[in-house]
Amino acid sequence: MSVNGGNATHKSIDYMTDSRPIAAGDNTPGCKKRDPILVAENVTRSFGGINAVDVEYLEIPRHKITALIGPNGAGKTTLFNLLTGFDMPNSGKWQFEGNSLAGVSSYKVARMGMVRTFQLTKVMGKLTVMENMRLGASNQVGERLSKALFKGIWGGQEKQITAQADVLLEKFKLDAKKDDYAASLSGGQRKLLEMARSLMVKPKLVMLDEPMAGVNPALTQSLLDHIKNLKSEGMTVLFVEHDMHMVRHIADWVVVMAEGKIVAEGPPGDVMKDPAVIDAYLGAHHDVDLGDAEGIKELEAELEADEGSIVGTENAGIIAVDAVAPELKSEPPRTDPETPGRHSKEAE
Ligand code: ATP
Repeated sequence: MSVNGGNATHKSIDYMTDSRPIAAGDNTPGCKKRDPILVAENVTRSFGGINAVDVEYLEIPRHKITALIGPNGAGKTTLFNLLTGFDMPNSGKWQFEGNSLAGVSSYKVARMGMVRTFQLTKVMGKLTVMENMRLGASNQVGERLSKALFKGIWGGQEKQITAQADVLLEKFKLDAKKDDYAASLSGGQRKLLEMARSLMVKPKLVMLDEPMAGVNPALTQSLLDHIKNLKSEGMTVLFVEHDMHMVRHIADWVVVMAEGKIVAEGPPGDVMKDPAVIDAYLGAHHDVDLGDAEGIKELEAELEADEGSIVGTENAGIIAVDAVAPELKSEPPRTDPETPGRHSKEAE
């Protein structure tokens, strides 16, 4: 059963095997897509003297999983905040499903079918898991003061919402926890709850900000499967992630940001070999010889020693391995989420 509204005209298409080209032409930064769900133009946001976001043009392909990658401080989260109404841009416009979203508040954006999760989960710890889920549903009649006193008016709707929440909680294997306080969940379970809760509005576009950050490796596969399921059910996914293994594993399309701008786009295999991507991740270290394992080790050691570095050893190592040392691909350096090489905002 599909949990999203889906697009009726696309019902006959198996989204998992649809191999039609994603871009309408060449895979250049800002390229047009065959079927975009989200289109952003000249979106800028600066903080003091820093141009955190300076996106000239970006289209997100419908029914695909798109990864937004880039070094720390590239502007990924700020772009998420702008597109979902959690922050105001200095300039720019963007459309979701053809509707302009500039200036639309975050709760209305969610009602229109575009939801997001956060790097630091925002579940309500003092509410139960089920109460968190119910809060995710939109247009609840009982929220209106004039009707709140009459259970006859909203009781039926609440039953439907609870039934919908039950289905999702079972799917995300949180049903046994539904009466527990959300604060008692592990970091990974909270990420799952946040994702499940976002689905209560039956979204068309799900935006996940670092879904893997702080997640126990035991839950990693389950999270990956849930993200792939979103696509199989007809939803579009846009996610920010530093874990290149995950990006390669599930993304159909990769967009690379650096210093606020889109510097590359394309299928994961192509993007990871793009010199602009290697530059964006490696920055000042691009002159290190990565042609052999020694070069990679040298770079990793250097980055590990440099705690203030904005470049993650995980990203640098994997991109370098994929780009220049194919023989090392079978054992990509994984980063333990508990001790990431890059700085993580997830403090769990
Ligand atoms: P990370 O991968 O570390 O999450 P990011 O690519 O998401 O990084 P942002 O968090 O969007 O990057 O930050 C982009 C730039 O904007 C950084 O230089 C950051 O310090 C700055 N920035 C973001 N939010 C604010 C803010 N509220 N006030 C001032 N500067 C900010």
